[in-house]
Order: sequence, then structure tokens, then C-alpha cells
Amino acid sequence: MSPRTGRAALLTGDDGMLSIISDLEVADPRPGEVRVDVSHCGVCHSDLTLLENSTGVPPIVLGHEAAGVVEAVGEGVARLSPGDKVMLTPLGPCGRCYYCVRNQPTICVEAQGFVSGLLSDGTTPFHRGEEPVLQGLGVGGFSTRTVVPERNAVRIDDDVPLDIACVIGCAVQTGVGAVLNAASVEPGATVLIMGLGGIGASALQGARIAGAARIIASDPVPERRQLAEHFGATDVIDPSSSDVVAVARELTNEIGVDYAFDTAGSSAVVEQGLSATRIGGTTVMVGAPSFDQNITISPALMFMLHEKRLIGTMLGSGHSHHEVPRLVELWRAGRLDLESMITHRHGLDEINDGFDNLRAHIGIRSVISLG
Ligand SMILES: [Zn+2]
Ligand SMILES: [Zn+2]
Repeated sequence: MSPRTGRAALLTGDDGMLSIISDLEVADPRPGEVRVDVSHCGVCHSDLTLLENSTGVPPIVLGHEAAGVVEAVGEGVARLSPGDKVMLTPLGPCGRCYYCVRNQPTICVEAQGFVSGLLSDGTTPFHRGEEPVLQGLGVGGFSTRTVVPERNAVRIDDDVPLDIACVIGCAVQTGVGAVLNAASVEPGATVLIMGLGGIGASALQGARIAGAARIIASDPVPERRQLAEHFGATDVIDPSSSDVVAVARELTNEIGVDYAFDTAGSSAVVEQGLSATRIGGTTVMVGAPSFDQNITISPALMFMLHEKRLIGTMLGSGHSHHEVPRLVELWRAGRLDLESMITHRHGLDEINDGFDNLRAHIGIRSVISLG
């Protein structure tokens, strides 16, 4: 077997633009790795953040919400075979570290290296000539083929369409998991979701699956508020014309909501969540704010007198090998609507349109077809 080439959207550190190349060299899978023909990959806000901060960074293939078919397996790979449909996941927990053995796989020391764009041994499966090309967020899904450790690929049943399943990889795992795993929302709870992109729409569906009695959804984009009602929101708020905290309190008899989710990724929204939750309520930080943001709160009031909680979560705080199959089963049972989350589809050549949609807050998810 020789290294194969693939078509890919390459982000160079020179101009922050994605250019389509057809000569990305993709290595053979080494022991414990699999090579995957990527079929579809969603465009996530974290990709846009990386793109907008790419000046001076080495060339990288972004895309971390991908699904495809296993093409080749390295020595010792037991769970997967060529021809298997898989969903790729950015975080492949090692199963051995301090955090893994305490059932906190999303903060696995080894897996968290995914942010570097390198495999855990410091290498990358992508090259262009002599030049290494980084693999965005452990997946490199904007390429027709990629190589990942076996643990970063989760087998899915043959009847699951890959163009729909791919959104489970980041948005759905993260949003639904934030509700079911990080917050453990209980039936009858009141929930506020702030921000209705892919993660927010998923958190909203997670709240519905959890049996929340009141689900208040906030986003400035009318199309997203309409979809929020379709996904199960009981009330929608336009934060550009209404005071989200005041409306959330009004809708809960001035008590405040049991749970607030920042799915927009902004410190201002976290502060709103802390104000909108009831005494003893929980605010969950789900989105990805830039690293220079800070929050200002009164800890004596919030955390002592009012016993409020502020918690973090990454990728839904679950184990992908458990999460993906149960999310697929929820989809199969008609309880998780993945189809309506995919509002735009593009070929690889039109990938910049997917990023334009994100920048303009148009729709919920754009999915790129690599075929
Ligand atoms: Zn993502
Ligand atoms: Zn670990």
C-alpha cells in the first residue's frame, strides 16, 4: 500500500483562505489507525474560529464533523474493517489516564492533544511534498480521505445515511450531551437555550428528549427561531429586541429557569445565564468563546447566597463510543431530528459558501459533500 492522494480544502497561514487542492498526500494507516474515505463533513463554528486566527500557522485541513467509510486498517485494529461506515470524533479517549478511569473521557489527557492538529506522537498523516499539513481538530474532515486512531472512529449501522450522521460528530454530541450528561436535566425542568446554531439546536432537542416542561430559546435570526419551535421550544425570544433575562424570569413566575445554556460562546451570554437561572439553578457553558473573554459576577451573591452553579462541558461530556450509537437510536426512533438541522449542502468546491453562512448566521448547519 502506498500513500494515497486526496482532494482537500487547504487553509494556508498566508491569506486565511481555503483553497481546493488535489495533491494532499495521506499516509497509510499505522498500527492502531484506520484510513477513512470521508463522505460528508459539517462546517462548525470552531472551524471558523481557527480560520480567522490562522495567520502564520502551518497549512491545515480543517473539518471535524465527518462521516465516511473505512478504506484500510492498520495492524492490530480489531473493531473496524474496510467497508465499515464510521462517524469520526475529534476526541478519542485513551481509556487509561487519570480522567478516563474516572469516567471523564472528554478531558482525557491524550485526546485533548487534538487541538494541536497533530496525532499524539506529534506526527500528522497529511503531507504535501516535504511539507507536513496539520489535521484540524483530530479529524481533518475537509479531505476526501483521512487517517485517525481507531478510537476516533465509531462504527455506525449500514442503514444510517452518512450525509445526516456527520452532524452527530460535533454539534449533536456536544449539544445533546451538554443537556443529558453535563447538566442531567430532569423531566419537568425549565430550560433556557441562548444561541440556536448547530449546538444550540441540538441542546434544544436534548432538553425535549430529557422531558423539560418549558424550553425557552433565544436567537436574533428569525429563521432559527422558527426552527426552534419545530424542534420543541415552548417560547422563543429575539435577544436583539427583548431582554432575555427579564423574559425568562417572566415566563417562570419570576423564579428563573432551572438550567441556562450558553450555546453562543460568549462571556456576556454566560452572565445572562447566571442572571436568568433561579436560586440554586445551573448555567452551562457549551459554546466556544475566544480565549481573551472574561466574565464579571458577584461570587458572594451567585455562589454563596444563591447557591448557583456554573459548569463547563466539552463535546457533550460523554464517551463517543456510547454517545454516537444512542444518538443514532434516538434519530431512528424519531426523537432526534437531524435532517432539519442541515439547512445547507455544498460540494467541496463551494466550501467557502459554508463558511459565509456561518459568518452571516444563516441557517443551522452546512454540510460539505466530499464525494
Ligand atoms: Zn465543532
Ligand atoms: Zn485518557
